[in-house]
Amino acid sequence: MSKRRFYVTTAIPYVNGDPHLGFALELVQADVLARHRRLRGEDVRFLSGTDDNSLKNVEAADAAGLPVEKYVREQAERFAALRGLLSLSYDDFIRTSVDPRHAPGVERLWRACAAAGDLYERDYEGLYCTGCEAFFASGELVDGICPEHGQPPERVAERNWFFRLSRYEDALLAAIESGRLGITPEHRRNEVLSFVRGGLADFSVSRSRERARGWGIPVPEDPTQVVYVWFDALGNYVTALDYGSGGARYRTWWEGADERVHVIGKGIIRFHAVYWPAILLSAGEPLPTTIAVHDYLTVDGRRLSKSGGGGTDPGAIVDRYGADALRWWFVRDVPRSGDADFREELLAARANELANDLGNLVNRTIALVRRFRPEGVSPAAPPEEADALVAALARLGRAIDDALGDAHYRAAADALWEVVTEANRFVSATRPWEQPANGERLDGVLVVLLEACARIAHELHPFLPDAAARIEVALERRDPELGRSLFRKVRGSA
Ligand SMILES: [Zn+2]
Repeated sequence: MSKRRFYVTTAIPYVNGDPHLGFALELVQADVLARHRRLRGEDVRFLSGTDDNSLKNVEAADAAGLPVEKYVREQAERFAALRGLLSLSYDDFIRTSVDPRHAPGVERLWRACAAAGDLYERDYEGLYCTGCEAFFASGELVDGICPEHGQPPERVAERNWFFRLSRYEDALLAAIESGRLGITPEHRRNEVLSFVRGGLADFSVSRSRERARGWGIPVPEDPTQVVYVWFDALGNYVTALDYGSGGARYRTWWEGADERVHVIGKGIIRFHAVYWPAILLSAGEPLPTTIAVHDYLTVDGRRLSKSGGGGTDPGAIVDRYGADALRWWFVRDVPRSGDADFREELLAARANELANDLGNLVNRTIALVRRFRPEGVSPAAPPEEADALVAALARLGRAIDDALGDAHYRAAADALWEVVTEANRFVSATRPWEQPANGERLDGVLVVLLEACARIAHELHPFLPDAAARIEVALERRDPELGRSLFRKVRGSA
């Protein structure tokens, strides 16, 4: 039987500001999914990148007094640097303005939609938010202001190419209702269903070359227009697979994948769950299987935003607390729905949870084995106090699979932590340090503890790859020095 294939992507951010904590959350979520599937033996491809072709980037380059190419390149490097900083495992990183795979792919997608009769020209006048790079219906504004950016949109009138979205209402409803196009969590799926049921209007998929300031991909056969940045950006999910040249990668990782998962923030759900699937239906290509939506982070109660500044720098947090602590806070504290407020004392509490509960468990287990069984632990049946721990270990893999299968990171981390808690309870109940050094019961206790530590480390890989590797080395070498230095303790936690 061939291996299951799993393709997962993050959204590609505009580079008009520095990477903030909210995007770090998204990267870590997608990384957890990718690492989990690799751990289960699936073939995985994980893509991230940057959205270079936005008018916002041109404006930010102007403000910085730099040529657009230079500004965009330097900013994209800051995003790419998150890979090492956060211990990410993506296989590919696409930059839409310079990657030679991108423009041919967008052109092919455009031509496929045109061939299906879904692109037409029309004069248009509307309210455009450059922050969103989107037109708004007046009913979608709050007191005339974009709810996402808190600024009034500008009135734009021009002749554009339109995509016949209205034609795909029924097909989209059928795909979502049947589960062929999955959207999670459930309330996001309902939000999309009610939006589609409310009727879909065709949307503009080009801008005048003039208004785009010449930045972007020219419309095939119409050089007076550039491709709308969202049509361009959404295409990255397939252009990075050589869709433009009809390459083998596209057949393997899009057409041939068992799952195609987009991890995104709630602000761009309509683009991913409505526009993008409609473009793919028009082009005759398979749909994503899952859109996994996360909510936003606030920092000390303030909204994060690149353009508004004040976004907490993931690099500074990692310098101070380490990548393990930040990744653990993301998976363990950020709720499935509802915005999460980041505060340093919450992060410190999670860092100390790692050190106190998991670090101590591994450390104590190694110390007990070295003290009482330096020549090795003999096979022995577990004592009856181990029943709850053995049962929790037996459930663990399945519990994590079920949770991450639905992009429920917090439930997966909680399942893992239940086992850590149970293992610590087991140590307290059996008090192995008081046992005679020759008892069979002691061997039974240590066998269970070693097994628990090994299983916890194994299942920890998707969440904290660095810590999991350190625990495995410490256990293998039975090294008390390594056991003591698994996690950084932090002062000033809540
Ligand atoms: Zn906006």
